Amino acid sequence: MVCYLYLIVQLSQGMQISEFVFFLGVIGGFSGWLGMVSKNLVAVKRDSDMICDFREYLELETEDGGGCDTADSLEIVFDHVSYRYSGAKEDTIKDVSFRLAPGEKLALVGVNGAGKSTIVKLMSGMYLPTSGTVYVNHVSTGELNQKAYFAKQAAIFQEPFQTSYSIAENIAFTEQYDKKRVWKALEAAGLAEKVRGLEEKENTCLGKDIKKNGVQLSGGELQKLLLARVLYRDASLVMLDEPTAALDALAETGIYESYHTLLKKPAVLFISHRLASTRFCDRILMLEDGKIIEEGTHGQLMEQRGRYYELFQVQSRYYSERKVKD
Ligand code: ADP
Repeated sequence: MVCYLYLIVQLSQGMQISEFVFFLGVIGGFSGWLGMVSKNLVAVKRDSDMICDFREYLELETEDGGGCDTADSLEIVFDHVSYRYSGAKEDTIKDVSFRLAPGEKLALVGVNGAGKSTIVKLMSGMYLPTSGTVYVNHVSTGELNQKAYFAKQAAIFQEPFQTSYSIAENIAFTEQYDKKRVWKALEAAGLAEKVRGLEEKENTCLGKDIKKNGVQLSGGELQKLLLARVLYRDASLVMLDEPTAALDALAETGIYESYHTLLKKPAVLFISHRLASTRFCDRILMLEDGKIIEEGTHGQLMEQRGRYYELFQVQSRYYSERKVKD
C-alpha cells in the first residue's frame, strides 16, 4: 500500500506514465512473490506441526504392566463397557458386554456409525473404556503389558496402510524380514504368482514414488497383500475393520472367506456393514447405536426375524437389484 501511495504521489508530481507503469508492474510482481512466500511458510509450518505430532505419537512410551506375555491364545472379555469421545454429549458405546473366546470367529455387524470401529479400538487397547473393563486373559487393558499385547495383534483398518517400500517390507513391517515366511504368506494369500513375475520379485517397491519400476497393485491384489501381512504376523488376535469396504459386496465376501479358511488358530473379529460377508462366523453380534441388540449365528438371527433379518432382507434386495442393473 505504501509503495502504491508513493507511486501515486510521484505521478502527481510529474512522474512519466511509462515509469509509473514500469514501477507498478515491479510492485505487483514483488507483492505476488511475497504472498507466495508467506503462503508456503504457512504450509511448511502446518506440515511441520503434523510431523511433530506424528513423531510424538511414535515415541509414546507403552505401559509395561503385567499379563499377556507368554500366552499364545487370547480371550477377550468386554464387561459392561461404555465409551464416550472427549467433548461428545453421549456415550458412543453403551454398556456392551461380550466374550471373544480363543480361536473364535466373531462378527460385529451394524450400519455405519453404530460404533464398530470404536469397539475395535477398545479391544486393541488403543482406547480405554470410560466405564467398565476390557479384559485380555483376565487382565484389564489399562493394566496390561501393552507392548506384548500389540505384538500379538494384527489389525487391518478401512484405509489399508501401505508404504513405498518393498513388497516384503510391506508384509513384514521390518527390514530384517524372514524371506521364507514372506513367501509362505504370499503363497497362502494367492499373490505369489504375481510377485514372481516382477523383475525384482519381493524386493519390488509398492507404487512408483521411490522407484520407476515399482508396482501399482489393484484393489484385489492389495487385499491379498493385507492378507499376507496378517499371515506373516502369526497373531493370536486378528481384527478386520472393513478393509474390504472399497470392494464390491461379492469380492468382500470372497476375501473374508479366505481369512476364515486361512486363520485357523487366532481369534478373529470380522467387522462389516454388509451382513452377507460375515454369515459364516461362529457368532454374530448386531450393534445398533452403540448397543448389542441381537446375538447368535446367521441362522439363529434369521429365525428371530428381528433387526438383523430386516437389514439382511433390505441389503440382499439392494444388491440383487444392482446386479440386475449391472
Ligand atoms: P462404525 O465403525 O460403526 O461406522 P464408529 O465407531 O466409527 O462407527 O463411530 C461411532 C460414532 O462415534 C459415530 O457417531 C462417530 O461420529 C463417532 N466418532 C467416531 N470417532 C470419533 C472421534 N474421534 N471423536 C468423536 N466422535 C467420534
